[in-house]
Amino acid sequence: MPISYLCSMIDYLIVGLGLAGISFCEQLEENHKTYRVIADKSQTSSVVAGGLYNPVILKRFTLAWNAKEQLETALPFYEKLAKKLHTQLDFKVPVLRRFASIEEQNMWFEASDKPQLGYFLATNIKKNENTCIDAPFGYGEVNYTGRIATKVLLASYEKYLLTNMLLQQETFDYEALEIKADHIAYQGIAAKRIIFATGFGLHENPFFNYLPLNGTKGELLTIKAPDLKEENVIKSSVFIIPLGDDLYRVGATYKWKDKTNLPTAESKQELLEKLETFLTCKYEVVDHVAGIRPTVADRRPLVGQHPDEDKLFILNGFGSRGVMIAPTASASLYQFIEHATAIHPEMNSARFTKKYYQKKQRN
Ligand SMILES: Cc1cc2nc3c(=O)[nH]c(=O)nc-3n(C[C@H](O)[C@H](O)[C@H](O)COP(=O)(O)OP(=O)(O)OC[C@H]3O[C@@H](n4cnc5c(N)ncnc54)[C@H](O)[C@@H]3O)c2cc1C
Repeated sequence: MPISYLCSMIDYLIVGLGLAGISFCEQLEENHKTYRVIADKSQTSSVVAGGLYNPVILKRFTLAWNAKEQLETALPFYEKLAKKLHTQLDFKVPVLRRFASIEEQNMWFEASDKPQLGYFLATNIKKNENTCIDAPFGYGEVNYTGRIATKVLLASYEKYLLTNMLLQQETFDYEALEIKADHIAYQGIAAKRIIFATGFGLHENPFFNYLPLNGTKGELLTIKAPDLKEENVIKSSVFIIPLGDDLYRVGATYKWKDKTNLPTAESKQELLEKLETFLTCKYEVVDHVAGIRPTVADRRPLVGQHPDEDKLFILNGFGSRGVMIAPTASASLYQFIEHATAIHPEMNSARFTKKYYQKKQRN
């Protein structure tokens, strides 16, 4: 059992408990490091996420960045976590891309011929047999996909940390952070290093808010559709994700202006209009949630060390693919800190160091 609360100096203080915070905690547990987490509920991205892991970008039929490597790390990661938390987290479920035309079918065939992408794409067209769905051109099936129950994961992990007295449920006060020569101090806690894993909350962080985290709001509905009886994830203009008990998640929207976590009537209408272009049976909406995806302009994570303060680190920018990215990104940050292993240059926050010094000069 971790015993950080007994130690005078802990190894790590982590701020934030979404997919980023949890995956970093797991690095620390695996390596027998002491730590404590401070997290509030100001951001909801990991709680509301559809939870899909899918290596293919289904709009363009291309492979997502580093997808194969991420998947190879993520699947054992969630399997181990599920055993530790005594709950099911990984629901293996095929993703079916609904074709809108013969042209799309042909594009799929072309894509499935490509060496790396072909590994993930079934080569035959799957016929639609569900009378509640209109899909005259059939589907392309993506292999090695599934859903992580992120809400269950967050609740179980929170409980695990509370039981072990490793979590303080409060908002981190940046003004109270003291940076000393060989450690950081925060309201009675002394730690060798601090990791900020605050998702879109990064904007409140005076140390890292030079990083270009845009944030993209997303909304999801849960519908109850007793006649639908669909076991696959269907991807058309929106996703339909089966949850069991005739419940399905429908989403998601992408909005760049509104930065609140509040569900809106406008997005609900947008989702329902898209859903009804291919869902023909009756349903009722039973839930509606929203969150801000921590997206970066260049669509790569933000992982690394503060340009001036060597005890401050960032783990963020997972965009719309946190489920797959979090385990690899946190392992990379840990290896960098403890073993000086280089972070992949495309996700190293050092790619924005120039912005930090520009901002510093202006102030
Ligand atoms: C509608 C929607 C659908 C999505 N669907 C998918 C999907 O199907 N598959 C997928 O892979 N990804 C999906 N995503 C994206 C995914 O949710 C994110 O990539 C991921 O959750 C980001 O995790 P995070 O830990 O970086 O941030 P968050 O989940 O935002 O966690 C940040 C944590 O830090 C806390 N915090 C912030 N500021 C402070 C502070 N000052 N003090 C204390 N605590 C603080 C927050 O409250 C929160 O606990 C979806 C996102 C949305 C919004």
